[in-house]
Amino acid sequence: MKEIFLLKLGEIVLKGANKRQFESRLRQNVRRRMKAYGNFDVYLMQSTLYVEPMDEECDVDGAWEDCRSIFGIVSLCRCRPCEKNLDAIFETIEEYLGEDLDCAKSFKVESKRSDKAFPMTSIQISQEIGGRLAEAHPGVEVDVHHPDYTVYVEVRDLAAYVHGPAEAGAGGLPTGVGGRAMVLLSGGIDSPVAAHMIAKRGVEIEAVHFFSYPYTSQLAKDKVLELARLVTKYSGKMTVNVVGFTEIQEAIRDNCPEEYFTLIMRRFMMEISARIAKWDGCGALVTGENLGQVASQTMEAMTVTGAVVDIPIFMPLIGMDKEEIVRIARKIGTFETAVLPYEDCCTVFTPKHPKTKPTLAQVINAERNLDREALIERALQNIEKFKLEYHDEPVI
Ligand code: ATP
Ligand code: MG
Repeated sequence: MKEIFLLKLGEIVLKGANKRQFESRLRQNVRRRMKAYGNFDVYLMQSTLYVEPMDEECDVDGAWEDCRSIFGIVSLCRCRPCEKNLDAIFETIEEYLGEDLDCAKSFKVESKRSDKAFPMTSIQISQEIGGRLAEAHPGVEVDVHHPDYTVYVEVRDLAAYVHGPAEAGAGGLPTGVGGRAMVLLSGGIDSPVAAHMIAKRGVEIEAVHFFSYPYTSQLAKDKVLELARLVTKYSGKMTVNVVGFTEIQEAIRDNCPEEYFTLIMRRFMMEISARIAKWDGCGALVTGENLGQVASQTMEAMTVTGAVVDIPIFMPLIGMDKEEIVRIARKIGTFETAVLPYEDCCTVFTPKHPKTKPTLAQVINAERNLDREALIERALQNIEKFKLEYHDEPVI
């Protein structure tokens, strides 16, 4: 008998009137992701998504791995369906989980019965199946309080399903239910984590990267594209807009007081990103800023850089410690790439003594010799777009 996956829906279950819309979006997302692994049927019943391989060619392990990174799923398990009677349930457990059970010191059976027409209560099912398993595995003790291993039996509408312990899912909300946002993606540790956190709230993400060739190398650009590809493991596909930033950085260097270089550069980044965001239907910007981490990440600096945009700027890492950010980067698989040593344009023309408590009036005065609009217009005419998916070849 084949294996199928049960995906349990997380917060969606709480969403009242939106529940149906959320569920159908999640089903669509799972369906689309499963296509890469063969012919899978994906259907929803009783707040659970069923993912069922339809033929022998399906890559079941690949599909399982992918399901673990789909937002909107709180837990998931591989299980085996069987007929809804005690003999079939017992035999299926023996065949499917018998070896795991033998490796444990103690076990219990936990049953759920959502098919209320089934003639036994869940407690009765657990007692009966637990008794038979204890007899079949005399070396493994029954321990209902702190078992080493738990066998689960779920009696549902179509069949009974048996499985071992469930795994934690990616959590969050299904991609697409929370609108779209534009992430400012650098090659560092922080911004891919910020992208992940906002995507986790059901937001489709797109990215913009500012690239200062020849001050930053082709490798630096590839690194950012690779980081974006890694983020798509969770977020689905992503378009990265690479914006040539050299002319703007040189204009700042040649025309503005040094202590304001970074602030002025960041105001350009924000304004250009917000314009691309509006073209592409994104309702917010996302950055990896973190209070106090560097001179441009003080409250005063953020006031000055945020003043050029009229959509919200989400900064999900704002109050986190670096260790917490690194922990997430490792977990989602972006850390190793993020620490590769290529320059970011933020590190080109860095002032020796950056202004940490600027006022808006000072910065506007420092920009007075720049033709901001013309510089922005030219940058917007030179955007390279890259469409990425996790199944693409790694960029580096
Ligand atoms: P990260 O680790 O993400 O590079 P950081 O701590 O180095 O962040 P900064 O370099 O000051 O911080 O940048 C703050 C935020 O500005 C980044 O998290 C990112 O959102 C954005 N940013 C910086 N450089 C770029 C760039 N070249 N292109 C796009 N966004 C950028
Ligand atoms: Mg950076």
